Parts: sequence; C-alpha cells; structure tokens
Amino acid sequence: MSAKLIKGTEIREEILEEISSEVTEIKEKHGKVPGLVTILVGSSPASISYVTLKIKTANRLGFHEIQDDQPDDIAEADLLALIDKYNNDDAINGILVQLPLPKHIDEKKVLNAIDPDKDVDGFHPVNVGRLMIGGDEVKFPPCTPAGIQEMIIRAGVETSGAEVVVVGRSNIVGKPIANMMLQKGPGANSTVTVVHTRTKALDEHCKRADILIVAAGVPGLVKPEWIKPGACVIDVGVNRVGEKPSKKNPDRMVAILQGDVDFDAAKEIAGSITPVPGGVGPMTITMLMKNTLKSLKFKLGLN
Ligand code: NAP
Repeated sequence: MSAKLIKGTEIREEILEEISSEVTEIKEKHGKVPGLVTILVGSSPASISYVTLKIKTANRLGFHEIQDDQPDDIAEADLLALIDKYNNDDAINGILVQLPLPKHIDEKKVLNAIDPDKDVDGFHPVNVGRLMIGGDEVKFPPCTPAGIQEMIIRAGVETSGAEVVVVGRSNIVGKPIANMMLQKGPGANSTVTVVHTRTKALDEHCKRADILIVAAGVPGLVKPEWIKPGACVIDVGVNRVGEKPSKKNPDRMVAILQGDVDFDAAKEIAGSITPVPGGVGPMTITMLMKNTLKSLKFKLGLN
C-alpha cells in the first residue's frame, strides 16, 4: 500500500488563494491591507533567501510590505528603537525579525520588545501563554505548528481521540504543536505524548501513534517498523545531507534535503505522509501571512 501524500505545496496554494480573496474584500470594504515589516540584520545568505521568499509571498497577496535591512554591527539599542517605531506604526500589523541575530544582540530581548499584538511569529511569551490557554485566547499560533495542524485538518485526518506522538520538544515546533493538538476544538482533542532524547523506548511510543509528528532534525531517525499501519506521518525535519547540481542550472549546486523519517519505506506503511521537501516546509511562510491578515482583522474587529 502506498500512503496518500500530504503536499504542502498544494495546501499552500489553497490557503494563499483564501488569504488573497479576504485581502481584496477587506480592502474594498475598509480601505486597508495587512502591513508586514521584515527586519533583516546582516547578510547571511540563508536569511536573505528566506526573507526574499516572505517578501515575494507578501507582495503576491497585495500586502503593504516593508523590508528593513540593517547592518551586521547595528547596536542593540538601535534595533530596539526600530522595533518601537514599528510597534507604533498604524500601517504595520506584523513585525518579523529574521533570526539568528548577530552574537552581540540579545535575541530574547529583541523578540520580547515586539508588541504581542503584532507578533505574527507567535514567539512572544504573551502569545506562548495565550496558546497554552487555548480557545479564543489564541491570537497568533506559531507558524510551523499552525501549518502542521492545518495540513492534518485539510488531509481529513481524524484528530479527536487520536493518539498523537510528537518527537522533539523545541519551543518552535515540538512543544507548541503538542499543546495545540491537546486543546479542545477542531483539529485537536487528541491524546498527546511528547518524546525526546531522554525518552526510553522511543520506538514503542511511535508505534502507538495514529498521528506521528517528527521534529528532531535527525535524518532517517524514524524507521518504518516504528510506524503504525495507516498512521498519518508528519515529517518536519529538514536535513541537508549533501549537494547536487541544480535542475535549472547544472552549474549551480543545491542542497539535497532529507526528512527525519525514512520516507521511501514509511510510505508503504503509513496511511498518509508529508514529503521532504514539499511537505511542512511551504506551510510556515503561508501561516505567517495568515497571522498577519489575522492581526489586521483583530484591529478592525473582524475576527
Ligand atoms: P531542535 O530545537 O534542535 O529540537 C530537536 C528536538 O528533537 C529536541 O527536543 C531533541 O531532544 C529532539 N531529538 C533530537 N534527536 C533526537 C533523538 N535521536 N531521539 C529523540 N529525540 C530527539 O529542532 P527544531 O527547531 O524543533 O527543528 C526540528 C527539525 O525541524 C529540524 O530538522 C528543522 O530544520 C526542522 N524545521 C522545519 C521547519 C519547516 O519546515 N518550516 C521549521 C522549523 C524546524 P532534546 O530536547 O532532548 O535535546
């Protein structure tokens, strides 16, 4: 049996279409569009390519988009002042600071300076607390976990009463997705287990999972025999395992990416599975756009 593929690339297009029509409607009725500022400090190629993708997506959706590039040696106080400026800018609904920041800047201090009502990444302690409480309290669920939940819902996978096992307990993926899946509500109501490097018998926990969410950053960690037949497998891992010539331009080398799950063998056992690349990856920026739209809607009292 070959599992159904849950393609992030397709689900992304569906969601972007939905956002785009909402943006058009709000613009017509209220004369406003979502405003997003992306602050990039320095010139790391990985950060530049990620920010470029965010800007491209924001532009495609008709957002008011500001790219604010700052030099590597910007003083922490100046970066905090810049955030304060955008906190007070009425045209801006979402503030995004591209991580990592240079070593002389306290990342936590910078992220905590963002107005929680413009924290579309959902990393501010206020939004982490709101997520923990759940229900109407939640404003901005963090983007990768929000994308994972959206994929599970749109793939038609039953979550109510399902055994969900999350491999990994990071603040950006493991802990928030575990918290989201156990809340009361659609796409949740699950029984959740979180496993990590200190867990005994990792394989035994995974074998119980109706929905297995893997965010460890270890290529091929999950073996096919750890997967319950028919389970939904969400592979969050993005691991660079080598390089190959680009299809478009064979003179250029591109990364070979592999997930945390042994995909080829797992797809013969799972009921549904996300590929890497093209699975969870495309969902993160999509959910960032959705959060930015939500921020404008909160401001206009439309949520
Ligand atoms: P992280 O901060 O390094 O956390 C990894 C977690 O996995 C930790 O909790 C760790 O346990 C656990 N872990 C590592 N090796 C393990 C093992 N052998 N057995 C059991 N648990 C193990 O990573 P992250 O930021 O959550 O990211 C995880 C993966 O997802 C990475 O490949 C990353 O690139 C990818 N990712 C993708 C997206 C996207 O597609 N949009 C977004 C974010 C992350 P301990 O806590 O015990 O150390």
